[in-house]
Parts: sequence; C-alpha cells; structure tokens
Amino acid sequence: MPSRKPPGSSRLDRIVAEAKKAQQERAHSYREQALKILPWICGRCAREFGRERLRELTVHHKDGNHDNNPPDGSNWELLCVYCHENEHARYEDSKNSGSEPKSKNQQNSGSDPIATHRPLEKLGELLKKKR
Ligand SMILES: [Zn+2]
Ligand SMILES: [Zn+2]
Repeated sequence: MPSRKPPGSSRLDRIVAEAKKAQQERAHSYREQALKILPWICGRCAREFGRERLRELTVHHKDGNHDNNPPDGSNWELLCVYCHENEHARYEDSKNSGSEPKSKNQQNSGSDPIATHRPLEKLGELLKKKR
C-alpha cells in the first residue's frame, strides 16, 4: 500500500508554495526597485553601502505595510540591518508601553533545602547527650 495522503493536501501545499513564491518575488522586486531609485545609504546611520555589502541594506516600509509599494519609492526607506531592527524594536516598544514588566522574579518560597536540613543542630544535640 502506498502512503495515504489526505485528499487535497497536496493542492493546498501547492497554493501555499505559490503564495510564498509570489511573496518572495514581490519582495525581491520591490527591493530591486528601491535599490534602483534610492541611494545606497542607510537612512538612520548614514552608512554607505557598496555592491559587495548590499545585502546588509534592507528595504523598510515607512507605513509598515509591505504591500504598499508605490513605484516612486515614497513608502520605502533603505536601512542597514541593524538600524532596521532598531526601527522595528522601537515600534514594538511603543506598542506595548508599560503593559507588563519584563523581569520575571522567580520566587521559590516555601522550599528551602538549606534551611530545613540542619546537620549542625543535630550535632549539638548529640554533644549535649554525650556530656
Ligand atoms: Zn544603519
Ligand atoms: Zn521595516
């Protein structure tokens, strides 16, 4: 018996794969476009990029919408990978400002193995008995 595949799953796989491919092609094309019309300089730290380091230069969407790609480049900003990360981290920060504390205090109250085990106290009792 050949392996049984649920009907339709391969079709779904193909649709997903095609959607991914289309998205990659679109991403590729807007990057190409952006690099064509914008200077190869990071918009934040003003670092310049040559062809050999061009992969460190990324296209940021000013409005955060990757589907908004006007051909005049008005929604694009070239950022180096570091500044791009910063840009998004800042956005994330402002989104959940002060909602939850980031440090998790692990309190292991109740069980303290050192406090419950007291060999020295026992030793003291033994010494008293012997005396
Ligand atoms: Zn930069
Ligand atoms: Zn971005």
